[in-house]
Amino acid sequence: MAKVYFLPVEKINQLETFLVKAGLPEIFSPGDNVALKIHFGSSGHDHHVLPELVAPIVSLVRSRKASPFLTDTNVLYRGERDTTFSHLEVAWSHGYHHLAPIVIAGSFRGDDEVVVRLPGENKRPAYLAREFSHFKALVAVTHFKGHLLSGIGGTIKNIGMGCASRKGKFAMHASVQPQVTLAQCTGCGRCVQNCPAQAITLVKKKASIDRDRCFGCAQCVHVCPEEAIDIPWSSTSSVQFQERLAFYAAAVHSLYPEKFFAVNFLLKIAPNCDCLRNPGEPMVPDIGVLASSDPVAIDQASVYLVKETPGAKWGAGVDKFQQVWPACPYWKQLEAAEKLGLGSRQFQIESF
Ligand code: SF4
Ligand code: SF4
Repeated sequence: MAKVYFLPVEKINQLETFLVKAGLPEIFSPGDNVALKIHFGSSGHDHHVLPELVAPIVSLVRSRKASPFLTDTNVLYRGERDTTFSHLEVAWSHGYHHLAPIVIAGSFRGDDEVVVRLPGENKRPAYLAREFSHFKALVAVTHFKGHLLSGIGGTIKNIGMGCASRKGKFAMHASVQPQVTLAQCTGCGRCVQNCPAQAITLVKKKASIDRDRCFGCAQCVHVCPEEAIDIPWSSTSSVQFQERLAFYAAAVHSLYPEKFFAVNFLLKIAPNCDCLRNPGEPMVPDIGVLASSDPVAIDQASVYLVKETPGAKWGAGVDKFQQVWPACPYWKQLEAAEKLGLGSRQFQIESF
């Protein structure tokens, strides 16, 4: 049974002491470059993990003479974090630059990647941003909330999706390649010039994708000025998506088997993800912080605490995530992750 440490929200000013007790500093060695995998948030709300709550983690890394780096990858969809410049702008506007150096991993185009294979999964590569193969330790710093595709957005989602290269993100989201909306295509040729697989040609002044050549890197989606190329999001079911998410999370974890730690912040637990400008009203009052070296147990324990906390709409004992996202059985990612050996769904909470 995995141990998950719990700090109630009333004691959040004791976060650093709590994390010491939970064993966080023990994973670092002097000289380690440590990735603090975070989501820098979006404009319009402050649901992301605030810099003052990340500061104790940074401090503990430095106390072991290791070097902390705040890191994330550019997103797959069009948005304010889809290029390194706009991503850094968001991080800066939310005040993270005072804490530690920021690394937007995977390069400007999200295509600087490393291929990771799990034992026994030779035919299934995971494409991760290259920097994650250079860090010596990783702390998943996660705001726990709901998610429209995976039901919950916890540690598994943070590292599975958040450490993937653009190709990896695409592979998790879509079963088919990008699609061109011919009515919107002006035939400018920018996608043709930027496709690394030479998979796009202009046919009668409209972009045409060669399905056999395309490997799903999604560059064309981002370079098209007319937004004429799109990702077919609906081509993947929630269950498929979650299984892939778990697989990618296991691939990331395999890089730091002894030097991984997860911290879930159960604050402002909205139905939807921090990527949206309006993730919705929190479903329950703020709960606190969980910490564990087990990425599966911490998400399972987070679901449990949200379930047992009464909210304005649903009382204690009601599975809020199931109520909000009935078509997204969130436990599929937990089951898949446990099956891959990423961790245990059996947990024991130790309160601070
Ligand atoms: S970049 Fe967009 S508008 Fe230009 S050719 Fe490609 S699909 Fe058409
Ligand atoms: S997804 Fe990548 S490989 Fe496929 S057509 Fe677009 S740019 Fe080319």
